[in-house]
Amino acid sequence: MASHPPSSPPPRRRRPPASTPRRDRWIAAALVAALTALVALAWWRAGSLDPLEAPAIPPLAQESRDDLAIQEARAHSTPRSGIGYATSTPTPKGQSAPARRMGADERKADAPPSPTPAAILYEEHFADEPNQRTAKEPEPKTSPAPRAAPGEVVPVAVIIDDLGYNEPVSKGIAKLHADITLAILPGGGASREVASLGKSQGKEIILHQPMEPAQYPSMNPGPGALLTGMDSDAIRRVLNANLAQFPEAVGVNNHMGSKLTTNRPAMDSVMQVLAEKGLFFVDSRTAAHSAAFAAAANKGVPRAQRDIFLDNVHDVNAILNQLRLLERVARDRGSAVGIGHPYPETLAALDRWLPGLEGRGIRVVRASRLLAPDSARAKYPAQRLAKR
Ligand SMILES: [Zn+2]
Repeated sequence: MASHPPSSPPPRRRRPPASTPRRDRWIAAALVAALTALVALAWWRAGSLDPLEAPAIPPLAQESRDDLAIQEARAHSTPRSGIGYATSTPTPKGQSAPARRMGADERKADAPPSPTPAAILYEEHFADEPNQRTAKEPEPKTSPAPRAAPGEVVPVAVIIDDLGYNEPVSKGIAKLHADITLAILPGGGASREVASLGKSQGKEIILHQPMEPAQYPSMNPGPGALLTGMDSDAIRRVLNANLAQFPEAVGVNNHMGSKLTTNRPAMDSVMQVLAEKGLFFVDSRTAAHSAAFAAAANKGVPRAQRDIFLDNVHDVNAILNQLRLLERVARDRGSAVGIGHPYPETLAALDRWLPGLEGRGIRVVRASRLLAPDSARAKYPAQRLAKR
């Protein structure tokens, strides 16, 4: 029988090797190394969008300030619902990240447009090809786009859509000291307040008219939407009711509308109302074959089109890249129209982009300054921005 004599100590059980301070240090060091490698990889990928346009590495202090401002704005943001406004950018399965594809589009800006742009990933905010026109959509004769001469100041319009729900950011946008155009949704809890604030700041105000998206009804354009099932009388009634909320509005652009804007009779009905009221229209171009611009031209409605979506990727550096793309398109074509949204990151990016812009030969102008035909622009007088 195997027993130990009572005097001998019980056999020591061999424990599994315990973690020692030395071992912990090794694990910590390995984790730090792995994290560093990941951060470096992410930074390299962000910077590789376009080596010419990649932003200089910002000082950490500025980054931290942005992060703080964004967290603060998020903390005060009211949840949004019913207007199809995502607080984060989903990437559909099988699709590459939008930011990388935008870089590719950017380089292809001068190449012949593909007959079926692959850029329509999402409703409204995500059709990001820079205003490419297909063979079916000839360059409008009414919008000549001369290349900017060296030394010339080139105008860009920056329209911020979806205002009136996310109150703190909407107000922050309205207060920016630049000629940003405010596109305000009807029926938002802060819509009236933002319109009044924007007007007092000397901003140009337009109605951000909800229109039926292709994914309707699973994607909801929100209150005051125009739908393909409506006849021209219903379209007139809904549009007039929305416009009545914003006596300040001098124009309209579309919220969503990837379905409705391809419906020419519906667009004709919309443009008829705008023609009667002397309002202009900016096609947000949420559909590759939008009929809105042609319908506006047909009714004599002053018009413009979106070139660049600024903030499909909710990241300050990605948005700064898009703003630089906006500059480049403007220099190439003589002007450009960018559309952004009231994300805290967009506000932070604009805050960093706006100073020094004129030194680079770019000026932010209200949307009405870029209308076709040129002769329509004087109908919408420039207000003076409020002094800071
Ligand atoms: Zn919108």
